[in-house]
Amino acid sequence: MRRLFIEAELAERIVIEGEDALHLLYAMRAKPGQKIVISDKNGKTANTQIESCEPQRVILNVLGLMENIQESPIKTILLQCLPKADKMDYIVQKAVELGVSKIIPVASQNCVVKYDIDKRQKRQKKWQKIADEAAKQCARDVRPEICSVINFAEAVETAEKNITCICYENEDTLPFKQYLQQQNGSKYAVIIGPEGGFSAEEVQKCRRAGITSVSLGKRILRAETAAIAALTILQYEKGDLGT
Ligand code: SAH
Repeated sequence: MRRLFIEAELAERIVIEGEDALHLLYAMRAKPGQKIVISDKNGKTANTQIESCEPQRVILNVLGLMENIQESPIKTILLQCLPKADKMDYIVQKAVELGVSKIIPVASQNCVVKYDIDKRQKRQKKWQKIADEAAKQCARDVRPEICSVINFAEAVETAEKNITCICYENEDTLPFKQYLQQQNGSKYAVIIGPEGGFSAEEVQKCRRAGITSVSLGKRILRAETAAIAALTILQYEKGDLGT
């Protein structure tokens, strides 16, 4: 069934306006009587029926709440240091398919791209749109949030609240798989570097904050491959991939 994510919270009767209404009316060709699945920003999902369509407004009635069946049992945050060109677009799309809960872009020392405030806002909007599309396409119950770009020190602070590791290209003692087998929680965060990798200082900073450095294997992966591989391994070991 067709699905729409809405900004508002679910209520018995939902009035949809703005971009969501235009999407429903013109892209999805909504008509009164049709049924549509609605997910709100908290991940609550309901089966609804269209009551009426006006030129810029659609009114829906909730028929019943639905269980969140597509979401992974683990919460995952991807802290991705900014890669070059449009590689982040690809990472966002694939990470959402792999069940990521939140993506935080990070400006680290070796990032080649430097975005000013205006560019950061534009990129965040663009990535959120890509995430929304991907969530719709793969029938997720929630729309993962794409945060605004933060710096590395802020990333370390954010990461401290979760079971966090940094995928470090020079780590040769602790494999990611082994690290995950030692963990029991359900909230994970993974830090992935840019093309230029991490500086020794950044890795030190992480270790001092209790963030473990792990290896994804003997080969050096490109940043986008590393992000996707890490999320895949995480969902396979602790989540629902392959089940
Ligand atoms: N320029 C660096 C490689 C950077 S790869 C070099 O030549 O050493 C980009 C990012 O992908 C890294 O910062 C790391 O987060 C991740 N990555 C790639 N291969 C990895 C591996 N084998 N183990 C852990 N992380 C890896």
